[in-house]
Amino acid sequence: MVSIQEAQQTILEQIHSLETEKVPLLQGMNRITPENHIAPWDIPAVHMSAMDGYAFSHSTLNGNSLKITGFLPAGEVRDTPVPAGETVKIMTGAPLPVDCDTVVPIEDVEQDGEWIRLPHKIKAESHVRKRGDDIQYGQVVITSGSLLRPQEIGMLSAMGTTSVAVYRRARVAILATGDELLEPGSTPAPGKIINSNSFSLAAQVLDAGGAPIMLGIAPDTLDTTCDKIKAGLNADIIVITGGVSVGDRDYVRVAIEALGGTVTMWKVNMKPGKPVAFATLQGKPVFALPGNPVAAMISFELFVRPALFKSMGHQRIFRPTTRALMQESAINRGKRPHLVRGIASTQDNRYYVSSTGNQSSARLSSLIRGNCLIKLEPGAALAPGDEVEIIVLDQSFEMGSNNGPCLALKP
Ligand code: AMP
Ligand code: MG
Repeated sequence: MVSIQEAQQTILEQIHSLETEKVPLLQGMNRITPENHIAPWDIPAVHMSAMDGYAFSHSTLNGNSLKITGFLPAGEVRDTPVPAGETVKIMTGAPLPVDCDTVVPIEDVEQDGEWIRLPHKIKAESHVRKRGDDIQYGQVVITSGSLLRPQEIGMLSAMGTTSVAVYRRARVAILATGDELLEPGSTPAPGKIINSNSFSLAAQVLDAGGAPIMLGIAPDTLDTTCDKIKAGLNADIIVITGGVSVGDRDYVRVAIEALGGTVTMWKVNMKPGKPVAFATLQGKPVFALPGNPVAAMISFELFVRPALFKSMGHQRIFRPTTRALMQESAINRGKRPHLVRGIASTQDNRYYVSSTGNQSSARLSSLIRGNCLIKLEPGAALAPGDEVEIIVLDQSFEMGSNNGPCLALKP
């Protein structure tokens, strides 16, 4: 049995980057670009007004009155000079006329017909966005390996980009195993249950930026398990759930080996999720996860998600961890590290955490209220107020009073 860290290392050593592809800009969202993106021009391309106001040349000011002799909206260019003693009304984003270098905002002047009176002190070049102030021609604005977030997408569009190179989405084939399983859509007959794992795992794949491929359910026979696994070989990664333990009808490991695959790891020292296997089959990574719904999701979280992230070019492949104060006592009397489903919240700039209650690995509801995993090492005996490490799964924190209510809706 290997530790969680050893298992992650063994797996990640065998995960390679997928190819990259060029996609329409918006499809690059939340993906990694393999290229440096270089500014093709200055932004702004010219000096422009940062305010609705009046433009003039500061060095030719004589007294504090100017005559309005023109109007310049955004989108238009004036290439004739503005004579000394005159000004043009200029809108935010309009290029400054050739010889102007200063703008005074509308709200700072007194207007009297065609004339404006300026305030006493005006700094030269005020309220002007200088050419190249944001980015400069030739500058590397987004480096290779960057995650494309909304701000990177916006910047790329400002650079004239309509399509962007990104790592391909990993195609992940998902196979459920078990004679007891039915697809959702009907009420299960006695003895049967709904195959919920395929859906939680597919949703985890989507959440990680991958593309799930549903292989359906393999009944508990060696032949059908082999056939279904073969059907997944045109995906990049295969994820199987159930049938990987030591039960009489657990055929997954045998099937992988019968197809010529090599199981390089089996059983991880953790609770829930011990019966996890990792194999390679015809060069494809194969994850065999437990059947219990919580164990399946947590082992996906710890092993499949980082592998997907690595294959899709991410540099940060693990969830953030932080330390939190227990709000209740917690004991791990077992021999395996226990990943307890927890509810983290923040109060007075500190993290607090409590468990979601009964931790049976069959209880999917123990994850419903949770937003983190509490790492409870063997022998741990924590009292309220003790510090513990948590893996943050999402940001759905119940915010403490300092952070304001979650919903600031008022009638
Ligand atoms: P197994 O690992 O195949 O022995 O399954 C362990 C437990 O998880 C059993 O109670 C199964 O019925 C349940 N289980 C297995 N596969 C699924 C699935 N796809 N969806 C929901 N529960 C499952
Ligand atoms: Mg089974």
